[in-house]
Amino acid sequence: MEFDLSLILLALPVVFILGWVASRFDVRQLRLENRTAPKAYFKGLNFLLNEQQDQAIDAFIEAVQNDPDTSELHFALGNLFRRRGEYERAVRVHQHLLSRADLSQDDRHRAQHALAMDYLKAGLLDRAEQALLKLEGTRFEGQARLALLANYERSRDWVHAAHIAQKLESSGQGSFNGRLSHYLCEQAAACIVAGDPVQAMAHQTQAMQIAPQAPRPRMDLARLQHAQGNSALACDTLALAMNAAPGATALIAPALAQYAIDANQGPRMVDLLKTTYAQTPLLDVLDAIVALEAASGAPTASAREWYARHLENEPSLVAAAKWIAGEKLEHEQFHPQVQRALDHAVKPLTRYRCAACGFEAKQHFWQCPGCQAWDSYPARRVEEL
Ligand SMILES: [Zn+2]
Repeated sequence: MEFDLSLILLALPVVFILGWVASRFDVRQLRLENRTAPKAYFKGLNFLLNEQQDQAIDAFIEAVQNDPDTSELHFALGNLFRRRGEYERAVRVHQHLLSRADLSQDDRHRAQHALAMDYLKAGLLDRAEQALLKLEGTRFEGQARLALLANYERSRDWVHAAHIAQKLESSGQGSFNGRLSHYLCEQAAACIVAGDPVQAMAHQTQAMQIAPQAPRPRMDLARLQHAQGNSALACDTLALAMNAAPGATALIAPALAQYAIDANQGPRMVDLLKTTYAQTPLLDVLDAIVALEAASGAPTASAREWYARHLENEPSLVAAAKWIAGEKLEHEQFHPQVQRALDHAVKPLTRYRCAACGFEAKQHFWQCPGCQAWDSYPARRVEEL
């Protein structure tokens, strides 16, 4: 018994010393890890600055392994994966962040936003939509709404796009009424295809009220009225459109001429077009005048006079080609070849060009197929820009 007690008394300080050494070892280990994490972090940062993303990712993975609680490193790593197109890995990093119970509310929103961006970039639009909708009421709300809007536009979901545009407009994040009127016109177009012209007109009327200066709602409404046999009403609608959006006259004029011929309203509309042409001599307006005069039985020579007079003021190759088409040349047998060459040269000048990205097209677009911008096509052809 005596021996055992002395052994215990002897062992006590040894156990104490061992415990102290163990604790020192842990602290030293921790310090070592803490020193390793920033070192790896700076190494990663250095690689990033040198645009060596592969090495940066390796360094950040090392840093994350040493210090799994650091959310900033996860964000950096996730964003790097996304930028490199490794969306699956980016999603995993951001999902891992979201699953952590110790994450602050703000970091949780940030991770949710980052996850939504991963899905968007990966083209997983359904998942992106769900992730973005969760950001309502957070500091990422504005960005999320803009991303949602782009998402709905891409998937041509005009109902939801209109809903988001209304929210953006009312929250004062810029003017979205122009876009909203386009979304309503797109919904109207879908209604026409589905055989519901009444609902289509309701959308067009709403679009007119939201953007009174926009030419599209009235142009679309006039087309529908004309299709329903109300050509006279369609003419009046287009006359109002020209009044509300004088800049779009060149787009409106061809349809106006066509509807006026169908409604036997040539003389009234020709006067309106002549007044407009006197203010801004555009070839589309001139073509409409010529078409109306031809329909009213005016001699063809008078059409050619119009083009000749246009040439006095505007050095237009398009007008020149149109004038020559009706001219009798001295060597008339070569006229078709000459005319073909002229028409070929004129073609690029009759296109429309997006002011945002330069994309050219034979027809006018409300939304550029190249850069997806709305109203980026001027209502004038390339020669008249
Ligand atoms: Zn464009």
